[in-house]
Amino acid sequence: MDIFAPETWAAYDPDGLIALRLEQINRILPPDVKTILDAGCGNGVITNALHERYDVTGLDLSPAALEYVKAPKVIASVTAIPFPDASFDLVMCNEVLEHLSDADLAQAVTELKRCSARYLLVSVPNREQLETELVRCQDCGHIFHAYGHLQSFDLSRLDFLLGWQRIWGQTLGPRSRDFSPALLSFRQKVLQQWFKPDLPLACPNCRSRKFRLRKNLLTKAVNALGRLGRKTRPYWLMAMYATPSQRGDRSIGL
Ligand SMILES: [Zn+2]
Repeated sequence: MDIFAPETWAAYDPDGLIALRLEQINRILPPDVKTILDAGCGNGVITNALHERYDVTGLDLSPAALEYVKAPKVIASVTAIPFPDASFDLVMCNEVLEHLSDADLAQAVTELKRCSARYLLVSVPNREQLETELVRCQDCGHIFHAYGHLQSFDLSRLDFLLGWQRIWGQTLGPRSRDFSPALLSFRQKVLQQWFKPDLPLACPNCRSRKFRLRKNLLTKAVNALGRLGRKTRPYWLMAMYATPSQRGDRSIGL
C-alpha cells in the first residue's frame, strides 16, 4: 500500500468497513470530549464524519490522502506530532500502529500520549496473522505485506504498549479465520501461491505491479485444509485509554 499514491485514497474503504468503526466511535466518545486529533487520518472518512460535531484536526503523512479531509489538517508523521503537550481532549489513531517499525511504534505511542489531555483511542487489526497477506513480486522476488502491516496486536499487547488505564475495549467486524502456519509456508514457498492484492499495489523495491498468484488444484486443497479447525476472530480491535489524571471509576459500561 503506497500512502503517497492518489489511487490508494480515491476508493479507500470500498467495503464500508470504516463505517463499522465510526459507528462504534460515535457510541463511545466520552461526553467531555470537544477537541480531537485524528492521527494518521488517511482520507478522512472518520475525520469528516466527526467534524460535524467536534473540533477535529486530521493529521497524515500523505498529501494525497489529506486532499479528501474537510476538517483542519496538517501534514505530519505520528512519530513527530507538531502540537504542544495535551493539545486535544482525545487523540485517536486508527489503523496506523500496525504499519510502524518497532522504533517508530515506540515513538508514535510517546507522541500520541503527549498530545492527549484526556483520552487515547486506538484501533488496529485484531491478532492479525501477518504471514497470510504476504505478496511476492514476480519481477524481483521481494516479499512484503500487501497493506504494509509490520505489527500484530492483541488487547494485552496494546495495554502494555500504551501503558495508561484502559477504560474500554472491543473486537468487531467481519470474522477472519487463521491459517495453519506450516501449510501456509508450504503454499507460499513450495507451491508459490502468495496473497492476491485486492487494492492497487506496486512492489516497494522495483515498482512492478506483477505478483505471483499461482492457483491450481493443490493450492485449492491446501487453502481448504489450512483453515480447517482454525479459530475465527473479528477483524478489528479498538480500545480507549485515559490519561493518568483521568483515572478512577471511568470505565464505560459497554
Ligand atoms: Zn519487485
